[in-house]
Amino acid sequence: MGARRDLRARIAARRSVRCEVAGCSSFVNRISRYCARHRDNDQRYGHPLGRAIRKSETGRFSRILASFIKANRNHPALTLVFTELDTMVAEGTARAAATPNAKLAPHDWRPRLDRELSRLHRHGVTPADIFREVGTLWFYSRTYSRELPPLSRRFHFAAARAVLSLAPREGRWSLDGRHKQATRRHSTLVLEHFGRSLTVALAGVLRAAEASFDQHANTIAQRHRSLRAALEQPFT
Ligand SMILES: [Zn+2]
Repeated sequence: MGARRDLRARIAARRSVRCEVAGCSSFVNRISRYCARHRDNDQRYGHPLGRAIRKSETGRFSRILASFIKANRNHPALTLVFTELDTMVAEGTARAAATPNAKLAPHDWRPRLDRELSRLHRHGVTPADIFREVGTLWFYSRTYSRELPPLSRRFHFAAARAVLSLAPREGRWSLDGRHKQATRRHSTLVLEHFGRSLTVALAGVLRAAEASFDQHANTIAQRHRSLRAALEQPFT
């Protein structure tokens, strides 16, 4: 019980410490460096000032990625990373199947991630889907680096969250079986590790794809411009 008393003492000692985020005057949450709100952001989005990147913000990039993937689906580099992503998902799924009911400690991120990979597999998520999600954020962060700094911890978290959202999450039934409970928030360690592996696995191809991406973006923008110009001509 020494440990618990020790924790209580540490929390008490920090009761009048302010949150580390500049301009935030709230007191820290328990033993965190941050107040409850900023600690929450840090755990969900990888930064105390992080936030969810909405689909409406990345849609434009996602469309260009889709057209890039379609045009390059037989490129050896895409084939290679798709195979790697396939292996990542298949191996996690196999490990998850080997210990279906294992009780997990809070720090067991690996088996937790394996269960997530198995969920993606069960819902038919493909390597191209995963590549599109990470690539979309890659190019988004290249343009909106203030919102999502490239290759940052925030980027890792956003990439992991986007990929984990490709398949629905199972809500749990309440004990009386009457209603579904809200899904648990993602484990911070899972987001951190998964996001980093995805980024490391795909960075080489995405960096090499930048010139081609810009060209796809230009083609699409040009078509929009031509269409807009054409529509100035009234229909009869
Ligand atoms: Zn704060």
